[in-house]
Amino acid sequence: MRSIALGDNTVHLIEQAGARLLVDTGPDFAGAWEALQAEIEGELPDVVVATHGHHDHAGLGQRWQAAGTPIWVGASDGPLTARPLLQSPAETAAMLAWAKRTGAPPETLAHVRQRVETRRAAALRAAESSEYLEDGVRWPTGLRYPPFEADRLVDGDMEVGGVEILAAPGHTPGNVVLAVREEGWLFSGDQLLPDVDPLPAIQFVTEGEGLRRFPTLAHFAASLERLAECGFTRCFPGHGEPFDGAGEALAGALARIERRCARVRESLREVGPTTVYELCARLYPRGTERRFWQTASSVQGHLDLLASRGEAREVEGRWEAC
Ligand SMILES: [Zn+2]
Repeated sequence: MRSIALGDNTVHLIEQAGARLLVDTGPDFAGAWEALQAEIEGELPDVVVATHGHHDHAGLGQRWQAAGTPIWVGASDGPLTARPLLQSPAETAAMLAWAKRTGAPPETLAHVRQRVETRRAAALRAAESSEYLEDGVRWPTGLRYPPFEADRLVDGDMEVGGVEILAAPGHTPGNVVLAVREEGWLFSGDQLLPDVDPLPAIQFVTEGEGLRRFPTLAHFAASLERLAECGFTRCFPGHGEPFDGAGEALAGALARIERRCARVRESLREVGPTTVYELCARLYPRGTERRFWQTASSVQGHLDLLASRGEAREVEGRWEAC
């Protein structure tokens, strides 16, 4: 077992009797590939499993494939590695339609439009440019993310050489974690992090001809619940150092979600049918103006979770307790 820090990310090399697996490809900043090769001393893993299709977890996928190592990814994240984010007009339109449905005022919607546009352009540049942009905040340079088709799309749970790959949808639709049960080890990707709960993203999955919004936090919480029952003792996260007390950390993450849910439910009861924007303004009076996207993503996530439990519902853009 070896954990290798690459800027803000950590990848883990699992060496079991039956397999040599790398958890996450590593992010593609200038020098990342070379640093990673030096760490593994030229001994290629049998397979690299990307916990999900985000740029910092799957960015070096194409490099691994070129070196002859297959990349596996959860089936529903296939589209995330195969093409840059937000390039289809339908995806952009769905994002903006969601923002509009929150009831945000025109000036906030203009910011959202700008933000979606910036992210779209950045995703395209990361996919196509051979240059690394300056960054230096979380990684030494900006990240590239050349698209690739995964060698295997993992559907449901599976096991390879004593290492389990467990479906843990939520953070992304096809998110997976890895586990070595007899050691009590959980390789959590972004499902469980030492200092932070990932923001429930606004994301869409294809359904028939169209796109359906994926209820991120409802799935994320269900995955946490499932993992909390597995008796894990040590966590190897996708960011930061490995830590003990994985079971307690999973329970803690669930408890924080429950607390935030209770606040949202309470507000719904107090104000009656209300928009996401109004709820944001009530719960986070300062955050709503400056950080609408983050605040609204979080509130929407908790509403989705309440809805999945039959405790809230949306009627024509307004949410109410039930
Ligand atoms: Zn992520």
